[in-house]
Amino acid sequence: MNINIIPLKPGHQKWWLGFIFILWFSSLSAQTFTTKGTELYDYYGYYFRQKFKIEVNGLASVADSTFGLESVLLNLHHQRVSDLKITLESPDGTSIWLSNRNGKDSGANYIDTRFSQFGKSGLISAAVAPFTGNYRPDGQLEFLNHGQNPNGTWKLYIEDLKSDFNGILDSIQLIFGHHPAKAIITQKCAFENIGLCNCPNGKNDCELLPDLVIIPFFTKNQIQEYAWDDKQYPGQLRLAATIANIGYGPMEITGTKNWFCGTTKVDSSQICPNGKINRLLVNQKVYSRKNAILSYKEFPAGTMYFENKPGHNHYHVDDWVEFRLVKTVNKKKILIAKGSKVSYCLFTTGILYNSDVFSAIDGKQYGENMPNYGLGNYPTCNFDKQGISVGGYDTYGMLYEGQSLALPKNLKSGNYTLEIEIDPHHWYKESNKKNNIFSMTVSIGKQQIN
Ligand SMILES: [Zn+2]
Repeated sequence: MNINIIPLKPGHQKWWLGFIFILWFSSLSAQTFTTKGTELYDYYGYYFRQKFKIEVNGLASVADSTFGLESVLLNLHHQRVSDLKITLESPDGTSIWLSNRNGKDSGANYIDTRFSQFGKSGLISAAVAPFTGNYRPDGQLEFLNHGQNPNGTWKLYIEDLKSDFNGILDSIQLIFGHHPAKAIITQKCAFENIGLCNCPNGKNDCELLPDLVIIPFFTKNQIQEYAWDDKQYPGQLRLAATIANIGYGPMEITGTKNWFCGTTKVDSSQICPNGKINRLLVNQKVYSRKNAILSYKEFPAGTMYFENKPGHNHYHVDDWVEFRLVKTVNKKKILIAKGSKVSYCLFTTGILYNSDVFSAIDGKQYGENMPNYGLGNYPTCNFDKQGISVGGYDTYGMLYEGQSLALPKNLKSGNYTLEIEIDPHHWYKESNKKNNIFSMTVSIGKQQIN
């Protein structure tokens, strides 16, 4: 495999607009395309989506499971990389997150950070800056090898979502070859082949319902209490939440055409006269297998809206999770703090593999062995369709908007229970609603000034 080394350049070039080098190497196994760096803007009360183009040509016309994108190599200097959301887009407009606000409070730089489907160094979201190694990105690289033409303009988007620091993109390389990121297909179950999908308990006919649970690993790995004198997050408990679908069918929602400002029907996504963002009624689409034939029903469920906060700019499903802090006294649960219900874009950021340490949920290992594994395809946050595929998961990191609980002032130090509830209104159908509340013990008050 040929990897070219780009010398680091001093920052603050006048020609910030992005002088793009295209270097093409070919060998028997890999082809590398590179773009070389430029200054990254800070967040100044509004954010700018910086775009870096990588021209790719001379490759086979189809990227799929036999040839395609193998890995991405990134070098970037920034004093607090958790300000950054880094997205890669293929020429056909499919995009995935390479890394979204990882690095916690003070991690700096990405140095020789390789992203690949099964990166040996683990998940980028669980890693420590400067991320030197081979990591699994926040999104699924295999979405970029789904049969589209890899030749054309690839785009790397970098968004700085918090003020204080500029940065420098030193280099980004795309490495193509014959060991591409590809979906692991273990079963023939598919919408076009529903007769090969399984029903619970070996039945012939069934509704293929989702079953949503929190994956403990992500929250345990990303949870932090901030003191009251913290400049950024005073008095907050911040946490990640990752929702996996361990059911027999996908969680799929579809937007209707019914947009509302209050009770007034309007034409499209817009700001209402009262200054609030309007809502779209959504249905949940539930697939069924009957006599080996596919059918589906749509059930009215919740609502959706356009989330314009930094780092989002896409559609969110309302009231998707709720965070609570409780204390058990004499076997009675007392509610200490409750966050406002948090909205999410439902999409499959990752998929469970049996070999992952984090795919153990309640003592059971999930992954390729799941019935109907991989059913459903939900790569975007549009309003027409969102969802989480079977065996897929949707991650919201601890530094994303809304991933926090406001702690009461003068809260006594000690152990409390954090609860995360998925679909707190019970608007969505699942095969099991009883496993929607995740709880873990958290120790509060270590940093607090009483
Ligand atoms: Zn979002």
